[in-house]
Amino acid sequence: MLSKPFFGYAKPQFHYELLSTALPQPAAVATPAAITVLLPREMGPKPSPLLKPGTRVKTGQRLTWDDQPGPAVVATATGTIQSVAPHLGDYGRKFTAVTITPEPQDEWDDQFAQGCRQPDRQLLIDFLAGAPGAPGLEKLANTKKPVDTIVIYGGDTDLLVDTNLYILKSRTDMVNKGIHALKEIAGVDKILLAVPSEAFQNFDGHFEADVRAVPSTYPFGQPLMLFYQLFGKILDQGETFDDHGVLFMRAEAVAAIGTALADHRLPTDKVVTVLDKTGHKHLVTARIGTPIGAILKMFDITLEDRDRLIFGGPMTGTAVYSEEQPILADTDAILVQDSRQVILTSDYPCINCGECVRVCPSKMAVNLLVRFLEAGQYQEGADLYDLYSCVECGLCSFVCVSRIPILQYIKLAKFELARAVPAEEENE
Ligand code: SF4
Ligand code: SF4
Repeated sequence: MLSKPFFGYAKPQFHYELLSTALPQPAAVATPAAITVLLPREMGPKPSPLLKPGTRVKTGQRLTWDDQPGPAVVATATGTIQSVAPHLGDYGRKFTAVTITPEPQDEWDDQFAQGCRQPDRQLLIDFLAGAPGAPGLEKLANTKKPVDTIVIYGGDTDLLVDTNLYILKSRTDMVNKGIHALKEIAGVDKILLAVPSEAFQNFDGHFEADVRAVPSTYPFGQPLMLFYQLFGKILDQGETFDDHGVLFMRAEAVAAIGTALADHRLPTDKVVTVLDKTGHKHLVTARIGTPIGAILKMFDITLEDRDRLIFGGPMTGTAVYSEEQPILADTDAILVQDSRQVILTSDYPCINCGECVRVCPSKMAVNLLVRFLEAGQYQEGADLYDLYSCVECGLCSFVCVSRIPILQYIKLAKFELARAVPAEEENE
């Protein structure tokens, strides 16, 4: 329940990256010795009849657990399956990790190319749901919650990240082709393209979408913030964007759809912004499934004890614990923090300084909310202190003098409350 004016004057103010007209040229990461793709399905107790070590797969081949309808992942290299293992993602999400030893040359699976002769919505769902940028096209298959609006954000949601604005500026024609396909093939008529206001004049009139300007200051590119700006709504408890018929997409995802349909081949490479320990930025392209270590090696970045690796940007990124972790379709950035610069969270209590309240764009009483969340009283936090007004920007964690991981508490609270909804429904 929203009980206060939503927008406040946020201090400090951070600006998103806007990229100069001389666009950087991403460096290409060589195919590594092993590629790991994640099948969005928990590994069963019995071995998969299809995914067996020693089996050869082709680039662009759709990999499934068995021959029944179900989740799939696309092989991003040609080679032999080395291993099939369980993989635990954040918030307990379970996957099956398929590791492939690549061959020097790609051999392309031709199933997608055949489908391109008469492309339809199902082809997009089957082959492009996990394309670079993670379009999430599987949501188009949900007949109970049909998608009627696609919102493409042309910038990046976190600070210091260049990936999606680079794509929008450098692959404009492919983004446009992707938009056309979403209209004509996927059948979604309403497509909004939100771009940072300072870049708006470069894009207005260039796309088959309704182009809208959003402020270039953080956190206006965060999906929950965009949702409020574009539709004047917030997500209530247990709700997702699906409940409102809205699908959010990165510019990279839309460009991947356009490229796939133009080339009749599934794109395998992802653009990633790498922020090294000295604060320098590198733009790279790498195959989805490339281990982080292979990318770090390219820039002679070595990890010392207690250095931190983060997927995503500085405000909302998530720590990962191994250089073996593969980059995923939605890995827009890798941030490497020197242990001497890592600001650790603490168990100091809240001192009621009010900094989090002052900075919160949703004008929430964060200092009060956090007391309930620390105690695991999530429902009380939602009922009394507007948990669902939070747009998950992380500004409160950034300014907290007691170093309380407020954003993580908020995400955990929303996750636990969302998990509780189906359990309650089952018990009815
Ligand atoms: S993450 Fe913190 S600052 Fe940002 S909206 Fe939520 S409570 Fe407010
Ligand atoms: S910034 Fe941290 S210490 Fe200050 S009021 Fe907010 S939660 Fe408490």
